[in-house]
Amino acid sequence: GSAVIIDEFEKSLKENGLDKEVKVIKTGCFGLCALGPVVVVYPEGSFYSMVKPEDVEEIVTEHLLKGRIVKRLLYDETVEDDTIKSLNEVDFYKKQLRIALRNCGVIDPENIEEYIATDGYKALGKVLTEMKPAEVIEVIKASGLRGRGGAGFPTGLKWMFTANADGANGKYVACNADEGDPGAFMDRSVLEGDPHTVIEAMAIAAYAVGADQGYIYIRAEYPIAVKRLQIAIDQAKEYGLLGKNIFGTDFNFDLELRLGAGAFVCGEETALMTSIEGHRGEPRPRPPFPANKGLWQKPTLLNNVETYANITQIILNGAEWFNKIGTEKSKGTKVFALGGKIKNTGLVEIPMGTTLREIVEEIGGGIPNGKKFKAAQTGGPSGGCIPASLIDTPIDYDSLIAIGSMMGSGGLIVMDEDTCMVDIAKFFLEFTVDESCGKCTPCRVGTKRMLEILDKITKGKGTLEDIDKLEELAEAIKTTALCGLGQTAPNPVLSTLHYFRDEYVAHVTEKK
Ligand code: SF4
Repeated sequence: GSAVIIDEFEKSLKENGLDKEVKVIKTGCFGLCALGPVVVVYPEGSFYSMVKPEDVEEIVTEHLLKGRIVKRLLYDETVEDDTIKSLNEVDFYKKQLRIALRNCGVIDPENIEEYIATDGYKALGKVLTEMKPAEVIEVIKASGLRGRGGAGFPTGLKWMFTANADGANGKYVACNADEGDPGAFMDRSVLEGDPHTVIEAMAIAAYAVGADQGYIYIRAEYPIAVKRLQIAIDQAKEYGLLGKNIFGTDFNFDLELRLGAGAFVCGEETALMTSIEGHRGEPRPRPPFPANKGLWQKPTLLNNVETYANITQIILNGAEWFNKIGTEKSKGTKVFALGGKIKNTGLVEIPMGTTLREIVEEIGGGIPNGKKFKAAQTGGPSGGCIPASLIDTPIDYDSLIAIGSMMGSGGLIVMDEDTCMVDIAKFFLEFTVDESCGKCTPCRVGTKRMLEILDKITKGKGTLEDIDKLEELAEAIKTTALCGLGQTAPNPVLSTLHYFRDEYVAHVTEKK
């Protein structure tokens, strides 16, 4: 509904003679989806939520003309005077730390000057004029940044491997923006709200590894992100920040978009590159790894959107600053798309090490309708469930793996006491069966057989032996599938079997 509200503001400002003084700026997502559409009035920072077109006139005549805040529309209804709490003081935001999302909801993503005004392209200027490529890599290594796409591989090491690879015939940098997990929209928000941060980071990466051409592989189902990225690329070219002799140096870098057609498997790095090359998006065996033989068999650096969204801040603030945020082995922050049975659905960015309880109870505002928290699912179709007994688990790469889940790209789905965990496992398995590319047998055939067994169980026709068979098959697929999609597809089943086996047993023993 935001577009209508913008129209209403423009109309009302004109009618009230304020159209020269007050500027309406369309930004990206501010994170609190549950309370949208949101309008923030500056300089006060009044955070109006769930604004309807009929509220606009009151905001203009009361707030903008008479300086009186419209309390009934404020996010924090407990406010008793006209002092507006800063967003960092309200529950949804106070435990968050916005690094990757710092500009989302703050700047106009279609205006490069707003990005430049928030120190945009300063990090690129710094690396090109003050640092050698190897120094840039050292900073990223020292920061402890790990890949935010799911696997958590150290970013600096990946950059170093690509920099060290033989680039006599050229090298590439690429960005994985093929976000496909159900319920995940972290990358989409970064690209819609702050596209230049990814472009700038890719240019820095290209300088560090010795590439001069980049590709952003983005799913075509994200039309606003595609449009804003293209605008941002065109503007960066116009301002001399992409193209030849950037910042007056001999560094050249060009960037193009490639649209994915919605195959989940194209988020897997080798399938993504095969698709960019113009072929059917199927994974290929590794090794060789992309750092040595990636796009068109040339060394290629591939990172995901959120990983790139951290780069400029690390360059500007230093590795030590970043290194202090998070836990010993998981540095910085992680963006999650918080959804399911939770009051404050939306996008949250938390320092690594924040517990699941803090996310659910404080940031998320708890479970609606007085229901009890049952579990949270992280990592989408590749991840697992965290039961209520482990709600105090810190969210970081290693703690999640230790309890049979994984960080994944950042989907976080909360379930209440009414949720059937077998249904959840079935939902994710149906998704992977649909999305299997069919290249290897364990995934193509094995996941289908698993789904058949699950279907039997949920229909009350299964047996205890079926549960054992399901588990055995899941373990076999995990170890024999060709790519990450198949290797992780059994995870939702295995983790629910581990923590909620009684529900599987109930399905087969309490027959209707
Ligand atoms: Fe394709 Fe699945 Fe095999 Fe991956 S594991 S190559 S998605 S069939």
